[in-house]
Amino acid sequence: MQPDVPVCSLCTEPAVVYQRSLNRHLCGTHFTADVEFRVADTIKTQQMIVRQDRVAVALSGGKDSTALLLLLHHLLPVWEDVRLIAITVDEGIEGYREETVRSAEQLTRRLGIEHHSISFTALFGDSLDVILSGRETQACSICGILRKKALVVGAQLAGATKLATGHNLDDEAQSVLMNIFRGDLQRLVRNSRLDSSGKFIPRIKPLSRISEKEIATYLMLNDVWRELPECPYTRYALRREVRSMISGFEYKHPGTMLQLMKSKEKIERYCKGSMISEALHSCRECGDPCSGDLCQVCLLRQSLGK
Ligand SMILES: [Zn+2]
Ligand SMILES: [Zn+2]
Repeated sequence: MQPDVPVCSLCTEPAVVYQRSLNRHLCGTHFTADVEFRVADTIKTQQMIVRQDRVAVALSGGKDSTALLLLLHHLLPVWEDVRLIAITVDEGIEGYREETVRSAEQLTRRLGIEHHSISFTALFGDSLDVILSGRETQACSICGILRKKALVVGAQLAGATKLATGHNLDDEAQSVLMNIFRGDLQRLVRNSRLDSSGKFIPRIKPLSRISEKEIATYLMLNDVWRELPECPYTRYALRREVRSMISGFEYKHPGTMLQLMKSKEKIERYCKGSMISEALHSCRECGDPCSGDLCQVCLLRQSLGK
């Protein structure tokens, strides 16, 4: 072996990743095992999946949701009598969605997982491209609201007891900061997993401790890496600015994203049972749980004149 190739800190194989915050080199086998262990541990400590759960995985066909489905499928034997189903939302984004939908279909077929598709056109009467025309700058917030609704409807139709999404550590750390920047403490501490009203399907995020970079590495090591198109609307998003800011911090101070998550969890615990975390009502129009008089979907429909 060449002397300058780092060796895995746990065996004698050449390393493929360096975990900066732990000052540790890992080979492909040990890195894969580490990711699988951390996902299983997140699920266990946060009690995300329990016996007899029917877990609907939001499968866009992109990197995060592909990794999520693969990881849950791999860990499935640990939880007896738990079932996985995949749900794909087709927003109707030309030149972007077709390829990821195809990738989602191929993956579920290969893993033998029940797959449901639900489209914006079927649910809201128009594709996202049509709904957004003239409102491109609000693309991510409008799409986010409608996609969340579509996933909940899909999960309900499939009889799911949990809805799992592929949000990774980067997404979650960005959301923490964005909610703070906006002064939205209610959204910062809102956690549907902790809701005890039984009004909606709990959402779980098993990849919330795995970074975007680690997910990409995991997919490459497991031969499922594919370059997929990026959503054309992300160029309008505030998230993009926050993302580049946090990556700068993470580079200079490894572990920053995990610390942000710990701060959020502490705030969440302090707010539990307080006014801020318990302001859930039913929407006047559709009956969905919401924090005001109307839910976000009905508010949006009203503003779009639908
Ligand atoms: Zn190793
Ligand atoms: Zn509503």
